[in-house]
Amino acid sequence: MKAYAMLELNKAGWIEKEDPACGPLDAICRPVALAPCTSDIHTVWEGAIGDRHNLVLGHEGVGEIIEVGALVKDFSPGDIVIMPAITPDWGSREAQRGYSVHSGGMLGGWKFSNGKDGVFAEKIHINEADANLALLPSGIGFETACMLSDMMPTGFHASEMAKVTYGESVCVIGIGPVGLMCVRGAVLRGASRVIGVGSRPICVEVARKYGATDTISYKDGPIDDQILEMTDGEGVDRVLIAGGDVDTFEPAIRMLKPGGAIGNVNYLGNGDHVRIPRLDWGVGMGHKTIHGGLMPGGRLRMERLASMVVHGRVDPSLMITHRFEGFEHIADAVALMKEKPRDLIKPVVVI
Ligand code: NDP
Ligand code: ZN
Repeated sequence: MKAYAMLELNKAGWIEKEDPACGPLDAICRPVALAPCTSDIHTVWEGAIGDRHNLVLGHEGVGEIIEVGALVKDFSPGDIVIMPAITPDWGSREAQRGYSVHSGGMLGGWKFSNGKDGVFAEKIHINEADANLALLPSGIGFETACMLSDMMPTGFHASEMAKVTYGESVCVIGIGPVGLMCVRGAVLRGASRVIGVGSRPICVEVARKYGATDTISYKDGPIDDQILEMTDGEGVDRVLIAGGDVDTFEPAIRMLKPGGAIGNVNYLGNGDHVRIPRLDWGVGMGHKTIHGGLMPGGRLRMERLASMVVHGRVDPSLMITHRFEGFEHIADAVALMKEKPRDLIKPVVVI
């Protein structure tokens, strides 16, 4: 089969690979619509998960099932499914502890384009199909559904980790597609004031549509200073991080009220340490909690998130700014994601 892969560090391209084999619990899909992720860029051009050779990229997309294993109960060939970025092993000890995303070891549920070949291929292998796939409900288009693989579950997870609740003030650092879903997630969990941090005008515009009450740019000065000034020195209840780097935690901790929490979903592509500012962290006693997590996968969660789209709670299609038709355009979509032009939020390729 043909696939678009990380060939080596700093190099991506087309390769031929053997077709994947379908185990008894698994499914094989053909791609229907696919989207690149900023994480694919971290993987190839920052070497964030180490050097890889001929690893097929991609972990966001919608597929049509072409084969199922003998023990698969709920899916059959012809079904159109959302393929989640994270596909855990549900029988693992980690899953039984409530952390399926770390099944088989830290980040082990992240298989596509990390532990095994990703979805930018003519044939895609899905482990434990009954537990990991979700049928695409009617009423959600293929392009929009691509946002359900990773952007929506990841963005919403930031609010879950930080436990955003009614009336709280929230700062969302980074309003690319992941941060935009953090904004919408915080609004849906009842936040009152939601301040988005970003500079691309298209992202600012969509953040407002998702319910951000204010936006600031990190290019206009230190974001902690800006947030403290906007909140009369008090800071915010929660900080959700979906942009920046290892140094973003310092302003995040400084702008957080005592008792507040950070929910980080940003992929720290480089730098060896995250620094915690001692004084701003209440000399170790400020009750300022830091959570960082990979999005949880699982069929139930995917079905619930899809149901939120069906019932109009969130419209992920607002994030799709660039559309391509044809499998061969995956290379163009990845190039666009790497380049990040000012008018880009998210590209999608319909096959
Ligand atoms: P984008 O690059 O599209 O967005 C990043 C955002 O951060 C932009 O709004 C950008 O502003 C802003 N930003 C950049 N530098 C700074 C800075 N120094 N301080 C504050 N804000 C800054 O990325 P995505 O939304 O696609 O992805 C966000 C992150 O989430 C990535 O690291 C990605 O790998 C990760 N991710 C994590 C997952 C998980 O499960 N935890 C899953 C999927 C993705 P500007 O407007 O100027 O561009
Ligand atoms: Zn991703």
